[in-house]
Amino acid sequence: MKCGSIQELLSGYVDGELSATERVLVEAHLTQCTDCQNQLAEIKKMTNLLRTSFENVVAPLGLEERIAQAIEASHQGVQARRLTVLYLVFALLGGGVITVLVVSPFGMIVRALFRLTVTVVRGGIYMLNSMGHLWLAVLVVFCILLAGSSLVALFRLHRATQSEVVS
Ligand SMILES: [Zn+2]
Repeated sequence: MKCGSIQELLSGYVDGELSATERVLVEAHLTQCTDCQNQLAEIKKMTNLLRTSFENVVAPLGLEERIAQAIEASHQGVQARRLTVLYLVFALLGGGVITVLVVSPFGMIVRALFRLTVTVVRGGIYMLNSMGHLWLAVLVVFCILLAGSSLVALFRLHRATQSEVVS
């Protein structure tokens, strides 16, 4: 086997990732090739260097906790943004519905009725304010009399229809 193809296998050899036949081939070549032996030594050195430098890295105190907090915070941020979008959508929908109602003929009727109600209520309040208590009392008595006479009229009408049915 040529050095090139052996050297491609060397890092796998160091990591123990080769098949049994590949390993046998690499070891057989290494016994007779100093170039590849040097290459292997180089790879082993690099691998050890990497291992030891990573082993010596100690995570700062509370790093895990901070990462967890950051993840949670970002989740909450996403939720808050989603809620905001939802509120915006509902606000826009509500605004749209109100706009359509106000602009459409139905909305015109509603507005007219609303204005009429406001005007009637205002007029009533104005009348009540401008009238003294005496006039108010007169108005109430008049209303009661009107209602009473209406009832009497209804009663008479009822009796009249009954007597007509009888006769
Ligand atoms: Zn070689």
